[in-house]
Amino acid sequence: MERLWTSGSVDRNKELVDRLQLYGIVKSKKVKEVMETIDRGLFVPPDSASYVDSPMPIGYNATISAPHMHAACLELLVDHLQPGMNALDVGSGTGYLTACFAMMVGPEGRAVGVEHIPELVDFSTNNIRSSAASSCLNEGSLSLHVADGRLGWPELAPYDAIHVGAAAPEIPQPLIDQLKPGGRLVIPVGTIFQDLQVVDKNLDGSVSVRTETSVRYVPLTSKAAQLHNN
Ligand code: SAH
Repeated sequence: MERLWTSGSVDRNKELVDRLQLYGIVKSKKVKEVMETIDRGLFVPPDSASYVDSPMPIGYNATISAPHMHAACLELLVDHLQPGMNALDVGSGTGYLTACFAMMVGPEGRAVGVEHIPELVDFSTNNIRSSAASSCLNEGSLSLHVADGRLGWPELAPYDAIHVGAAAPEIPQPLIDQLKPGGRLVIPVGTIFQDLQVVDKNLDGSVSVRTETSVRYVPLTSKAAQLHNN
């Protein structure tokens, strides 16, 4: 039974990725491969509709982003997630994107997740251990940290790619500071109405910002504010 269920979940994950490709959200071979390799079903609480294209509650007033948002952010960052590159995932939640980043940057690269709810860091660690990215955790190319992600993770900066999975009222300066020249930050900005912004640090250190699309994310805030927002 265990094996039957396992192969069923892999097939359902592949169907989800095929549909995202059909709708033009998954564009590149690299994003398609990584989303097929990292099974979304291993990152959502048991019994939730793992392969439906919608966000889902994961406790602590947080959600796992919808598959189309994961895909869109991976596509926006694909050139900045090449083998050997450094990537930071702020508000790593379930660890899904951190796992994708680790697979893409490979053993010579570095994928860092920062999440301020310790229970979610434990949850994401277990999820990743059950996934194809498990060896990245063991070998140290993937690490997860309990911290306020508004400060980034200076220990392993600078980064080629920074993703923020929660909406900030404005772009936190430490994240811009921790971006490599040539690097890219993808971040939802706003309160009720939010824009997914793409911040490119140019080689001369100047910064270009553009809006990709309108989005709806949970806030990037303090732990106390998040847990009291019931
Ligand atoms: N990409 C994640 C998104 C999780 S939701 C996923 O798909 O699983 C956003 C996450 O940001 C939540 O887990 C929330 O706890 C976290 N978060 C919010 N504010 C934060 C902060 N200041 N520092 C670190 N994490 C934060």
